[in-house]
Amino acid sequence: DKKCIAIDGPAGAGKSTVAKLVAQALNFLYIDTGAMYRAITLKALRQNLDLQDEESLTQLAKDSIIKLVPGSQQRVLLDDEDVTEEIRSPEVTGQVSTVAKIAGVREVMVQRQREMAQETSVVMDGRDIGTVVLPDANAKFFLTASAEERANRRARELRAKGYQIDIEQLTKEIKERDYMDSNRAVSPLVPADDAITIDSTGMTIEEVVATIIDMVEK
Ligand code: C5P
Repeated sequence: DKKCIAIDGPAGAGKSTVAKLVAQALNFLYIDTGAMYRAITLKALRQNLDLQDEESLTQLAKDSIIKLVPGSQQRVLLDDEDVTEEIRSPEVTGQVSTVAKIAGVREVMVQRQREMAQETSVVMDGRDIGTVVLPDANAKFFLTASAEERANRRARELRAKGYQIDIEQLTKEIKERDYMDSNRAVSPLVPADDAITIDSTGMTIEEVVATIIDMVEK
């Protein structure tokens, strides 16, 4: 019997780290839906497309093949090219919310995400999983943390990858992205009515993972 767990929340709340560990523990497939919006954004930037042009971007989404290859480090393939690292660049991060607010782009992504969840048991992380993609999920979590804590976590990740980080600038960017994601017309970032909210400020990753697994197994 296939199961699905939805994990939504703002940027830097630790969703992907937690979702990966929960998936590992339950032997479910982890699906990073943010990576899909990032891949489309990367392609649009490379082609110099006007990010306000909803029609072209929707067509671009339809014409793109995005594959998430499971493994200890999940790889992201865009039309067979490995873009795992490139989709995390500051350029993509800065523009992804503009692309993700386009209804046509979301329709294409949501349909593909639902197809993936048909195949096997999944832990899916994103912004609209519990509300739109998998409204009948077996368990829904809304993972959050203070903006400062989220910025600090992101800074650590990015510094480890060699990026120079200005923490004030990063905090500002995270707040801007959350604002856009929370206030867009289609599928805004909100907790599903039946989601369990976990504020991970001051919690360790292990504690968050244990809390989720506990609730799933109940
Ligand atoms: O999760 P991540 O920070 O990689 O997501 C990047 C962006 O993709 C988000 O800021 C949001 O604009 C968009 N996104 C979305 N719906 C999802 C996942 C991500 O709109 N399910």
